[in-house]
Amino acid sequence: MNFETALIHAGQAADRQTGSVSVPVYQTSTYKQDGIGRDRGWEYSRTGNPTRKALEDCIAALEGVKYGLAFASGLAAETAVLGGLLKKGDHVVAGDDLYGGTYRLFEKVFRHWGLEISYADSKDPASFKRAMRRSTRLVWVETPTNPLLNITDIAAVAETARKGKALLAVDNTFATPYFQRPAELGADIVVHSSTKYLGGHSDVIGGLLAIKDKCVFEAVKFYQNAAGAVPGPWDAWLTLRGIKTLSVRMKAHEANAFAIAAALSRHPAVSKVYYPGLESHPGHELAGRQMDGCGGMVGFELKGGRPAAESFFRRLKIFSLAESLGGVESLACYPAAMTHAAIPERDRLKRGITAGLVRLSAGIENSDDLLEDLARALK
Ligand SMILES: *Cc1c(COP(=O)(O)O)cnc(C)c1O
Repeated sequence: MNFETALIHAGQAADRQTGSVSVPVYQTSTYKQDGIGRDRGWEYSRTGNPTRKALEDCIAALEGVKYGLAFASGLAAETAVLGGLLKKGDHVVAGDDLYGGTYRLFEKVFRHWGLEISYADSKDPASFKRAMRRSTRLVWVETPTNPLLNITDIAAVAETARKGKALLAVDNTFATPYFQRPAELGADIVVHSSTKYLGGHSDVIGGLLAIKDKCVFEAVKFYQNAAGAVPGPWDAWLTLRGIKTLSVRMKAHEANAFAIAAALSRHPAVSKVYYPGLESHPGHELAGRQMDGCGGMVGFELKGGRPAAESFFRRLKIFSLAESLGGVESLACYPAAMTHAAIPERDRLKRGITAGLVRLSAGIENSDDLLEDLARALK
C-alpha cells in the first residue's frame, strides 16, 4: 500500500458489523463478556479501545513498523517511553535542541526519579558518540528542531546507539512520516505530538508512538495501561480524520513555507531565515538526503529585535500569534517569550533564540494572502 493510500486505509478497514467506512467512535468504558475469561478481545478502554486501536495501527503502518500506541498527549507518549523502558541509574543521551516540554520532562521530572541525562550537539553525530556511557540505554533526538530547524543525522546517530546497545527514539513531529521515516534510517521508536501536523486542525491534543521491536512495544504498552494516559475515542477519531488528508496538507504547508522563506530572505527588515529548503541553511544538504521535503515551519530574525517583533505581531491579520503549530491555519510565535521562555537567557542566546527571532507555522491558506500579511506586518 502506498503512503497516500495508507493514510486513508491503514488500520481503518470498513466496520465488520455495519460496513461503516468511517471507523466508529466506540464511546464505551467497558465490554460485555460472554463468560468468565471469555471476552471478545476487549476488556476495559484504558487497556484497549477499537477506535484507539485503529489509530495505533495507522501510525505503525505510516512509520513502517509493526507496533503503534496512542496517548493523551505528546508528552504522555514521551513519559511512557522513559517510564516503560528505563529505571533509576540509566543514562539517556539527548540532542541539545529539544522541544521545551521534552527538556522539562527530562530535567524536572525524570531526573528526580534517578534518570541520568546528558546532552549532545544535535548537529554533530560525533558528539553523540562522545556522550555515550556504559549505562546509556536510550538516545533521544528531535529533527528538524524547534525553532531553528536544525537537522540531526538520524542514520549516524542510530549507528552510535546500536553500537552502545541503546535504543534510538526520534521525535518526528515537525516532519511527519510524509517527509521523514526515522525507522527506515535506524530509529527504534518514533515519537509524535499528533496535536500538530497529524491531527492538523488545531482541535485535539494527542501523542503517538511507532515501535519496531516486540519487547520494546510490550514494555511501553504495559506502561500505557499501568499509568493510563490514553486518549478518549473521540480524540482518536479526530486524529484519524486529520491523518487522512496529511499528504495534501503537507504539500500545501511546504509550498507556502518555501514561498515565505524565499520572500523573507529578500526582505530588508530580516537578517536571517531558517528553513532547511534554503541552500543557506546549515542542514540543507543533510535534509536533502534523509527527508523527502522540508515541511512547513520557518524561522526568521528581525533586525530590529524585540520592538520590531512587537510591531510585527501587532500588524498581522491572517497569522495568529499563538503557541503550537501544524494546523491548517497559519500561526506566528515569539520563542523567546513563549515556547522557549523557560530556558535561561544566556543559554537561549547561545542557541540562536534571540530577541528578534520569530517562528512561523505556514498554514494552507492562499500563499499570496500569507505573503501580503507578512509584507504588511514587516513595513
Ligand atoms: C508539541 C510538541 C511536543 C509535545 O506534545 P504535546 O502534544 O503538546 O504534549 C513534543 N515534541 C514536539 C517537537 C512538539 O512540537
